[in-house]
Amino acid sequence: MRHLGENLRVNHQCGDSLYLYYNAAKAYSLKEFNDHFLEFKDKSPEAAFVLEHDVGFEKWSRAYFLGNMYDVMTTNIAESLNAMLIDEREPVTSIFNSIAKRFGELFRERHAYVLKSKKNITGDGNQFIVFGAGSTSTVNLLEKSCSCREYDLVKILCAHAMAALRSKHGDEYGMSIYEYSLPLYKDETYLLAYSESINVVPIKSKWCMPEELLSVNIFPPLVDTKLGRKKRKCVKGVSENFKSKRSNKCSICKRSRHKRTTCMNNNKS
Ligand SMILES: [Zn+2]
Ligand SMILES: [Zn+2]
Repeated sequence: MRHLGENLRVNHQCGDSLYLYYNAAKAYSLKEFNDHFLEFKDKSPEAAFVLEHDVGFEKWSRAYFLGNMYDVMTTNIAESLNAMLIDEREPVTSIFNSIAKRFGELFRERHAYVLKSKKNITGDGNQFIVFGAGSTSTVNLLEKSCSCREYDLVKILCAHAMAALRSKHGDEYGMSIYEYSLPLYKDETYLLAYSESINVVPIKSKWCMPEELLSVNIFPPLVDTKLGRKKRKCVKGVSENFKSKRSNKCSICKRSRHKRTTCMNNNKS
């Protein structure tokens, strides 16, 4: 998301209205999205056109995202992860600590909200209505859904769903949180993903090779080697392929294709 934003800033000179793009991207509900995006469109129509038609809303907006996700939206996942973990890359244990810390913060925030909204909730069974500051949300625990859309997308209970859970299960509600989140977040699932061992390749002298392969000589493939520097292939993210170069202009006569030192109007040389 930020990666795409920086591309917009460079390619469409919309730095001043970029905060509107971020607001729209982070919105969970369509109404909130539209409010921000329309204002953005007003200020930077060209960049808005790219976002709407070249990239597509579902690539960068939470509200338009079709599947489940956890809080992060990106067109280039490697860059996002890198940015998040750049201070923690060594040793590995500190990465886990920082992830645990971040999740802890998110859960604490929701806990505080639950305590506050304890008295402002009605409903029974699995449907609840939570009255918050300025907004009312409808929670359905069975469908893992809330009208704020956060629960629908992330599949971890949003603050409203937490409040609903508390009113259903009392102070013991903490035990049932996993029942109402996706199994994806359980530690059993996490461990299962890493349960298969990865075999290390031993040193060459310990390789055990069949006799008939030992006698085979493998030659390099028959290709013409081209002279000159090799072309570098880079994998580009979505929307990175639109024009980006601004041609440089001479600072004296403001025309392109030459620079100040080679300008005909330059008196010094
Ligand atoms: Zn909610
Ligand atoms: Zn010039």
